[in-house]
Amino acid sequence: MQSNPTKPFSYETLPSTGLVAYFSMEIAIDPRMPTYSGGLGVLAGDTLRSAADLGVPLVAFTLAHRKGYFQQHLSSAGDQTEDIQPWEPSDFCTEEAARITVSIEDRVVTVRAWRYDLVGRYGHIVPIYLLDTDLECNSGWDRGLTDHLYGGDTNYRLQQEIVLGMGGVRIANALGLKLNVYHMNEGHAALLTLALLEQQLGGGPLATYTESDVAAVRRLCVFTTHTPVPAGHDRFSTEQTIRILGGDRTARLERLGCFQDGLLNMTLLALRFSRYANGVAMQHGKVSRSMFPEFPIDSITNGVHAPTWVSEPMQQMLDAQIPAWRRDNLYLRNAIDLPEQEIIKAHDRAKEALLTEVASRTGLVLNPRVLTLGFARRAATYKRASLLFTDPERLLKIATEAGGLQILYSGKAHPQDEPGKALIHNVIETAHRLSNDMLRIVYLENYAWDLGALLTAGVDVWVNTPRRPYEASGTSGMKAALNGVPSLSILDGWWIEGCIEGVTGWAIEDGANDAEEALSLYSKLETSVVPLYNESPERWARLMRTTLAFNGSYFNTNRMVKQYTRNAYYPVKLLEHAAVEETAYAG
Ligand SMILES: *Cc1c(COP(=O)(O)O)cnc(C)c1O
Repeated sequence: MQSNPTKPFSYETLPSTGLVAYFSMEIAIDPRMPTYSGGLGVLAGDTLRSAADLGVPLVAFTLAHRKGYFQQHLSSAGDQTEDIQPWEPSDFCTEEAARITVSIEDRVVTVRAWRYDLVGRYGHIVPIYLLDTDLECNSGWDRGLTDHLYGGDTNYRLQQEIVLGMGGVRIANALGLKLNVYHMNEGHAALLTLALLEQQLGGGPLATYTESDVAAVRRLCVFTTHTPVPAGHDRFSTEQTIRILGGDRTARLERLGCFQDGLLNMTLLALRFSRYANGVAMQHGKVSRSMFPEFPIDSITNGVHAPTWVSEPMQQMLDAQIPAWRRDNLYLRNAIDLPEQEIIKAHDRAKEALLTEVASRTGLVLNPRVLTLGFARRAATYKRASLLFTDPERLLKIATEAGGLQILYSGKAHPQDEPGKALIHNVIETAHRLSNDMLRIVYLENYAWDLGALLTAGVDVWVNTPRRPYEASGTSGMKAALNGVPSLSILDGWWIEGCIEGVTGWAIEDGANDAEEALSLYSKLETSVVPLYNESPERWARLMRTTLAFNGSYFNTNRMVKQYTRNAYYPVKLLEHAAVEETAYAG
């Protein structure tokens, strides 16, 4: 099996002093700030939290998203409606005095930044700059450019991407930041390369660039691609690009090979200008190389920020049993020696906290002694939320023979995603139809950070049923693993690396179609999960322990950020950055 990229990276001389600049359209910074929509934003936030813990010299750029993503409401019939989530940046951030401009269509748009200081475990600060166009000097339309995360049409999106990529580079200069690595977290930020090229030309006309100018920009840039789903790669028409970005820039981007099928492809743009690129799990690296065969693409498997996602009771237990786990998550490997009762007691308390929340939200009192499955994620169709309902009679039979089964669902569909909304409708309708004394199915409204933490820590088994190979990584199962909760999942994304059958959870076998995979799901529940849970508490405790030891110690951002530092940010200058390592192991 080939885990290395097929083509070598060009590790030319890297600038050796300065900061890493991390650009992301969404970042889950604080549960009270609605600046993220799902996995990409949570990953970005967890990356920054670990960078702060490890003392990596890094700053981040995103948009303010003043109206948030959206608050989800579900009718009893299962219809989703949305509300905006306005928030006030000044409640959490400090306004920077700097102002810069970007040109959009034929307008000059002024941009400011709000700084949020993310403080790591040993006091190291990662500043996050939230770009904002809501200024009186801008027109009404432009004032709204940084309001809605993934809102509006592709015109709005391209304009936001100019603010993020080009605005971010310019605001960094205005703030006097010295940056030597630009990390594009997904293609949304790819226009930063254009700002860097223009900067390289000292404001001269773009037409005068040479190959060595392009090479100079490439030395600075690093890119992470996040999805094999084609719709997840931003593309803009030539007409749009000429109108919004300008004819000259469009012509250059075309010559640089960033267009495909007549569309500006942000993934291609990012790849063209990056000295290092990666996918977010081993398998996703392979899929990305087959999608973009001209480029070397590595993989660095995602993780989650352990202290953010481990439940309070589990944290207390770990502090008592494995105190070094906070300093270095690798020590979680020592969970292999935990007293079994300790992990069970901690999980019981996490389950109780979850069921209390379910009761307060829905009035439904669930039974803490009954096997409880969790399924929560964006309601994208490839995630197949209703696979578990393929054969309702079979599911009812499993629940009855198990002496009870509880299933907790949650997830938002993008406001414009009608098939996603239909999926939620279908799950809720089926839940009403099937729920009885033996089978309880609950759909919880408004999936977000706080609910995600309660669910991944409090259920007994985390279920994931994506259609292969569309799950680039998935991270919610990692949150579960850090709480000792095993997964029952399709072998896609991170689970290919994380699944040890019967030790960290169970694989749903690949089938030729949905129906075959549903059959495997039912049979694993019937023959592996239910009997172990109901008949063998000691073996279940050992399963939780191996899940935490094997997967908690690896699928965390503490390990992941070290890999980015060594492979992407400072691959050949490692020794010169010994200071980074020293900070990492201090305390
Ligand atoms: C962790 C998380 C996700 C990502 O879940 P996946 O398993 O990657 O689908 C999405 N949304 C929220 C709120 C999360 O906490």
